[in-house]
Amino acid sequence: IIRFEGVVKRFGELTVLDHLDFTVDPGEKVTIIGPSGSGKSTVLRVLMTLERINEGVVYVDGEPLWHEQGAKGLEPASEAHLRKMRQKMGMVFQHFNLFPHMTVLRNLTEAPRYVLGLSPREARQRAEELLELVGLSDKAEAFPSQLSGGQQQRVAIARALAMRPKIMLFDEPTSALDPELVGEVLRVIRSLAEEHELTMLLVTHEMDFARRISDRVCFFDQGRILEQGPPEEIFSSPKEQRTREFLHAVL
Ligand code: ATP
Ligand code: MG
Repeated sequence: IIRFEGVVKRFGELTVLDHLDFTVDPGEKVTIIGPSGSGKSTVLRVLMTLERINEGVVYVDGEPLWHEQGAKGLEPASEAHLRKMRQKMGMVFQHFNLFPHMTVLRNLTEAPRYVLGLSPREARQRAEELLELVGLSDKAEAFPSQLSGGQQQRVAIARALAMRPKIMLFDEPTSALDPELVGEVLRVIRSLAEEHELTMLLVTHEMDFARRISDRVCFFDQGRILEQGPPEEIFSSPKEQRTREFLHAVL
């Protein structure tokens, strides 16, 4: 459902993705680990079309992200194509960036109403179901500033899900949280990981968590995948020296 082929991303002189080949199958739960600066966030940002790439091709759900079929073959993607592609994915960042001036409920109903065209009733019903899923039914009328970081992050997850994405992207969703709030957010992500259909791509430093929920773990190093495999294999018997060093430092 996601495929990077020979993707190069540079910032000036710095090569951040270095001929990256990377695929995620439909329904697969994949975790990306690796040192700071290895390109983990860039992968997610490229998928969300927040960054352009210099070389290579990215496919999402069978279609090229940056190109579309036009009258004369493949043409650069239009804004409409990019919007359609973005809607296949929901992203949750380290910082929860909810709309501060809107209640929790409106944070969840806004995009479904105005982007998907749901009626107020449909949007509200969907929002209420999702608030229940993340355990915040009683906070519908609260404003983000009245919530703890863990609660805000759970709202951010619910808001992304309200658009019914096929793919959920998480970029260190717990690393800005106080330690005692991490568990409640991981529990929500874990319950999503049990959904068969949903594809998940998660960048995290929570190694125990990655081990429990991932089908596959990818170790990124210098803009490439140095090593990947089932979590038991990567965590218990990594083949590469650099993977061993990294795991030794973080575990
Ligand atoms: P971390 O674990 O610290 O989040 P990461 O693996 O997510 O690291 P990226 O955010 O993908 O790393 O960044 C990869 C490299 O690209 C880093 O060296 C970073 O400084 C650089 N970089 C990222 N965004 C930009 C930008 N907009 N302009 C210049 N350099 C950038
Ligand atoms: Mg990052």
